[in-house]
Parts: sequence; C-alpha cells; structure tokens
Amino acid sequence: MSKNAEIRSQITHLECSLTGEIANHDHPLRLSPSEKPFLARYDLEKASQTLTKKSLAGRESNMWRYREVMPVQDPANIVTLGEGFTPLRRAEHLGKHLGMSNLLIKDEGVNPTGSFKARGLSAAVSKAFELGQTKLTMPSAGNAAGAMSAYAAAAGMEAHVYMPQDAPMANQIECVAYGAKLNLIDGFITDAGRISGEDAEKYGRFDVSTLKEPYRAEGKKTMGYEIVEQLGFEVPDVVIYPTGGGTGIVGIWKALDEMENLGWIGSERPRMVCVQAEGCAPLVTAYDNGEEFAEPFENPATLAAGMRVPAAIGDFLVIRAVRESGGTALTVNDDQMVDSVRDMATFEGIFPAPEGGATLSALQKLLESGKVIKDERVVLLNTGSALKYLDVLGPALGL
Ligand SMILES: *Cc1c(COP(=O)(O)O)cnc(C)c1O
Repeated sequence: MSKNAEIRSQITHLECSLTGEIANHDHPLRLSPSEKPFLARYDLEKASQTLTKKSLAGRESNMWRYREVMPVQDPANIVTLGEGFTPLRRAEHLGKHLGMSNLLIKDEGVNPTGSFKARGLSAAVSKAFELGQTKLTMPSAGNAAGAMSAYAAAAGMEAHVYMPQDAPMANQIECVAYGAKLNLIDGFITDAGRISGEDAEKYGRFDVSTLKEPYRAEGKKTMGYEIVEQLGFEVPDVVIYPTGGGTGIVGIWKALDEMENLGWIGSERPRMVCVQAEGCAPLVTAYDNGEEFAEPFENPATLAAGMRVPAAIGDFLVIRAVRESGGTALTVNDDQMVDSVRDMATFEGIFPAPEGGATLSALQKLLESGKVIKDERVVLLNTGSALKYLDVLGPALGL
C-alpha cells in the first residue's frame, strides 16, 4: 500500500452533543432528534497512526492537511479554495504597546472569501457533495452566505441565500457574483431563516446553517489544530474568540480533546474567552447568570454582523467550553471595536473585521481586570477582513 493510500478519513459516526445519541454519517442529517447539534466522531487511535506530528511536514498548506480527522471520505469530493493554514502572527508592536511579550494574532482575514467562514463551508459543502446534495440554502446576514456561494460555485452546486434587506452590501454583491440566488427579505434574520427553511422543504434544498448541520464545526475546528501545530505542539494560555453562533469556539474546544487523544498534547488547555458585542450578548448574559442555556437576545444591534446572532443553537457548548477551560465571557461595544480595528491595522498591518477588533478590546479589559497577565501567551482570533465592512467602517473612521 502506498503511503498516500493510508491517509484517509477516520470518521465513524455522529453523536448528539447533548444526549450522546448516535447516528450514522452516511446520509445527510441536520439536528439530532433532541434538536441539538450533532458532532462528528472519529477513530482517533487509527488516525494517530498516520496523523503524526512528523507526517505534517510534507502535507498541503490548507486545512485538509488534517485529513484523518476531517469528515470527507473520498478525497475527490473535497471542495477547496485553499482555506486554512493561515498565519499565526507574532504581534510585536501591538504587544509592546500593551506591555505584552507573547501576543499572537491568528489572521483569518486572508482566507478565501475574506473570513474564516471559508473553513466551515468548505467542510460542509464538501460533505454535502459527497452525500449527493446538489442544492444548498442558508439564511445569513453576512460572511457565511458569501462563503457558501463560493464553495457551491466551485462544486457546481446551486446556492440559495436568504438575507435581511439591510445586510452589508459586500455580502450581497459577492453572493450574486458567485452565481447564488439572492433573496432579500423584508424582516430580521429569524424571518430569513424561516423562509429559507420553508423553501428548503418545498424545493429539496439542504440547509447548511451553522451547527444545524454537523460539518461546519469540523472545518472551524482546524483553527485549533493549526494554533497547536504552529506553536510547536504547545497550547497557548488564552484564546480570545469573537462569538456569534459559536461554531469556532466549539470547534477549537473539540480539536483540543481530539489532539489529546492523538497524543499531540496533554490535558492542558487554554482559557477560552468568549467575546460578544454589548448590543447582542446572549451567551455572556447566560454565563454571567450561571445558566447552561441562553435566552434569545432582544433587539440585537452591532456593526459586527458576524456577532449579531440573538440565539445560538450551540449555546450550551460554548458556555461549557468557557467554564471547563477556566476562561470567561465578556462584552465590548462598537466604539471599542472600531478603535481596535485601527490599532491592529496601525501596529501590525492587519486590517481586521470589527469582530477581530473585538478580541483586542476584550484583551485590554482583561489586562485591566487582571484576568490576563502580561507575559501570558495570548492568541487573538481575527476572524475576517475589514474589506467586507467598508460601508460601516468608513463613517466610523471619520471618512
Ligand atoms: C461568523 C463570524 C463570527 C462568529 O463566528 P461563530 O463561529 O459563528 O461564533 C465572527 N467573526 C466573523 C468575521 C464572522 O463572519
């Protein structure tokens, strides 16, 4: 057997994240019977035989380098635009400005379609393709729709997007350019979700909304693998994550467990920090109140569209990861985000999405309150590029 032939997905089944109920992964599934996210499980013992630290040196520089712990079984079904394996930048100038010696920025803004949504959608579209789906749909007010449209185009699949009328122009334009059918909805994202769902039923489309199908989290978990690989198989002290639906934080937390089972790391974990916008903070509210599940947030408002998620189906998974890791959850406001966008750009040459800016604003608050110490190794997740947000950032930056 050739060396390459041994490198294969070791996916075994799906497991309900709340009840542990098991399901087969060989047909398209969305939520579990308890209406909670399914998570993909792998034979990590088998995976560890080929997915070794040493084996990674010669692998492709995108997120599919972790093929054994990815859900696609036939490599011919992988729909890739080169997503992932993004730089983990040492932020020397910004660090010095804050008095920190070990500040790092994972720059997801360089992904295809300008955000880390590319990871989730590359995984979800690939798996949907493998399972014979040809028509995809999604309600989205932002970057997810653009990413779905791009990967659907690359796969030769149909894409249907349902967006509130006030969705950012950049996101509307990219969907149209990628050949998706754009439906502008006179209402909120929840209305868009309802209509997308009804049409999916009517026309036989597969809905790839976040955590409502099992595989976007598998794409986003690769951020966790990369951070650890790029740190020479060490875990950082703190990871600060701008949270909307929470797929990324859930994915990174899952990746850390998998890596322990692969023998890459021990039981040490970074403190996971969940940042939300003051104007839309359902998870922070639930965390502060000691709750396990979050109440929907009324009248959500923030310029960071990726964090404008009033109700997250994976709420309990985010809150658990924060608590179990000894991390915390906090809010920052839009003005603070904009200041941080400017600071990250000025000090580091990274022009972050407001969501990425939020991680820096959160870090400043955590330094002030003593919850993060200056010499700790801290990773900020810049989840996207500011170039998608010029319509809101221009006025905010005085132009
Ligand atoms: C979607 C999005 C987020 C939130 O991601 P989740 O994993 O859903 O919490 C953060 N930043 C940007 C730029 C996004 O597009």
